[in-house]
Amino acid sequence: LKVVALAGGTGSAKLLRGLDKLRIDLTVVANVGDNVWMYGLYVCPDIDIACYTLAGVADRARGWGIQGDSHRSLEQLAKLGTPTWFKLGDMDMATCLFRTRLLREGATLTQATRSICSALGVSRNVIPVTDDPVETRIVTPQGDMHLQEFWVRDGGRPSVTRVWYRGARGAMVTEEVKAALEGADRVVLCPANPVTSIGPMLAVPGFRTGLAGCEAKVVALSPMVGTSPFSGPAGKLMKAVGIRADSLGVAKLYSGFLDSLIISDGDVSLKEDIASLGIDCSLADTRMTAASDELRLAKKVLKA
Ligand code: GDP
Repeated sequence: LKVVALAGGTGSAKLLRGLDKLRIDLTVVANVGDNVWMYGLYVCPDIDIACYTLAGVADRARGWGIQGDSHRSLEQLAKLGTPTWFKLGDMDMATCLFRTRLLREGATLTQATRSICSALGVSRNVIPVTDDPVETRIVTPQGDMHLQEFWVRDGGRPSVTRVWYRGARGAMVTEEVKAALEGADRVVLCPANPVTSIGPMLAVPGFRTGLAGCEAKVVALSPMVGTSPFSGPAGKLMKAVGIRADSLGVAKLYSGFLDSLIISDGDVSLKEDIASLGIDCSLADTRMTAASDELRLAKKVLKA
């Protein structure tokens, strides 16, 4: 079974860990909207968490970075007077150094990601949605800032008036992504922030129509439970862009390409409204706390 999984960060990593246990041909299409130039390096948090997860080295508790990593480079940068609000472990920083060198030598982000995966022993295919720079920008009364400045530096506190995706209009979906969608038996949207992880992918011209036109069934596992996300700023950002902050809001955002949505048992009251959008809706315990939950839901997204 050829499965294409669209992935953001922490919630997606959990489902990817479950999918990785199954005998499937898995391609991960990673978000690039949270990529950021930091400390002179090109940091790609969603690509890297997918690679680290599939390499079995991800810091599972934290949801980002490498397990057991140290932070001596950051300590030294702080001594040198650099603001170090963006946490990056030493080993994680080495990945970014390696990628930045490859990009400077002319590699595409797809090629650099392939090199990282092969060096880390990842047999699954991890590809960015685009090789072009796309950046999620959060507009607040304090100014227009990068998602990382909003969420990591400012703790998600500023009020949000608008979200936009810098570079998206001129970006292109890669040939690798097009081929993956065309050859897929199933497309899975991992639980991810609809505004900052799936939104940037959908903003790349051709991606939404690629999803709508692909033969495969497109299934999503909702990141929302009631009116809150399991983690992160999804609720606040959904409201800021005028979407209901619940699984019905997720369904509305993905209608036009989504065939099936798995929502939390407790959200049974939304089922009919989701079905009226032409989306099959099924209920499950959607929380992933243990490896058994990850596996159970990975099996469910392939059957839904
Ligand atoms: P974030 O919003 O910045 O954290 O961006 P991500 O794309 O990494 O979002 C992770 C999403 O995964 C969040 O919207 C969470 O609600 C969701 N999530 C985290 N843990 C779980 C879980 O155990 N189950 C489900 N269904 N979603 C989860």
